[in-house]
Amino acid sequence: MLADDQVAEDKVRTLPVIHCRDCGSTGWGGLRRKTGDKKIGCNLRDFYKAYFSKDTLISYVFPNLQGRKLDNWNSWKLCGDCLTLNSTDRDNCSGCGSENLISIVEPDQETLIQVYKTKDGNNRRISTHDCPFCGSKNGLSILGSRAASLASAAIGTLFASSYNDDRKLITFSDSVQDAAHRAGFFQTRTFRTTLRTALRQYLNGKAGCNLAEIRTDFNQYWRNKIGSDEDYVATFMPSDLEWLYEWEDLQKTAKASANLVELIDKRLDWEVVAEVGLRTSFGGSLERTASCAIYLNPDLIKNLIPELLEILRNEIGGLEALQPEELTRFLLGFIHHLRQRGGILHAATNNYIESGGSTFLLQKPLFMPGFAASLAPVYLVQ
Ligand SMILES: [Zn+2]
Ligand SMILES: [Zn+2]
Repeated sequence: MLADDQVAEDKVRTLPVIHCRDCGSTGWGGLRRKTGDKKIGCNLRDFYKAYFSKDTLISYVFPNLQGRKLDNWNSWKLCGDCLTLNSTDRDNCSGCGSENLISIVEPDQETLIQVYKTKDGNNRRISTHDCPFCGSKNGLSILGSRAASLASAAIGTLFASSYNDDRKLITFSDSVQDAAHRAGFFQTRTFRTTLRTALRQYLNGKAGCNLAEIRTDFNQYWRNKIGSDEDYVATFMPSDLEWLYEWEDLQKTAKASANLVELIDKRLDWEVVAEVGLRTSFGGSLERTASCAIYLNPDLIKNLIPELLEILRNEIGGLEALQPEELTRFLLGFIHHLRQRGGILHAATNNYIESGGSTFLLQKPLFMPGFAASLAPVYLVQ
């Protein structure tokens, strides 16, 4: 459903769907006009703006089919016609009289809010996107796409197709400013799709290879397959490196400098690791599209268990009777989550880890992409 296609009467009672990518909880997002307001606003433009600027008036409600009672949560009957929050004993809406009421639960507003100190020492309150059910950090996302994202997914598929031997694209937009912005957006997205398609093709028929093997082999495989260094660079050129004079030079002289080829090699090496780690929970990743399955070498875990079991049993109160199976299960889950948050070691992450998570250091090597603090890898440190 496209929001712009909605008829006027639906527009005032349709809330964007939000869901947790970790536990799958699904509900609706809305925007209050003031704290404690008993009505949830549904203007999509306002919601998007408030959601991404982490406005504290952002609200989440979840259908309560089982009639659960949760601590620190409010129960309401949400009016399906005017989005008023009614107390649970009502049979019709206090705002419009409608009997179209839905039982919902809403996390206490304060539990969503995080306070941090700004540079000038003031406290700033923001609404987090952490899942109120399972606590997954930044776990909530809006289930929906804007037209630009949908178009870029379509473009990505067209460009990655082997039937397309003339890759040019013209997009139209009703404003010049918008068109320039869109072009940049499409380019960035296309890089990711090209990379994922290349990795998928490379992995075809290669069951059971480990990440270290893929990392040493992937670049060379594509350099050989593409045939020339120039085409190799042009295929995998990320838009954030297009400012390099070597890239300008390549376009003028049709010659790729060794330096540029090396940068692309290094970038691809990082992207292969990120694809199964940091980026595996986003968009059409190989793992999410079931194009590949990722597992741990079971021997590595097995060899670790006896020693770790001994330490935990002796040193942590309450774990005296810990069983090897329980510990194995815990470790598998733990490592799975760590990987999905990007916790895979890479040469480029050493300084980042030592600095306690400075994204400035992470993106310092020339070949690395930029990182928003909310989408940077997470590691376990002492
Ligand atoms: Zn969750
Ligand atoms: Zn109502």
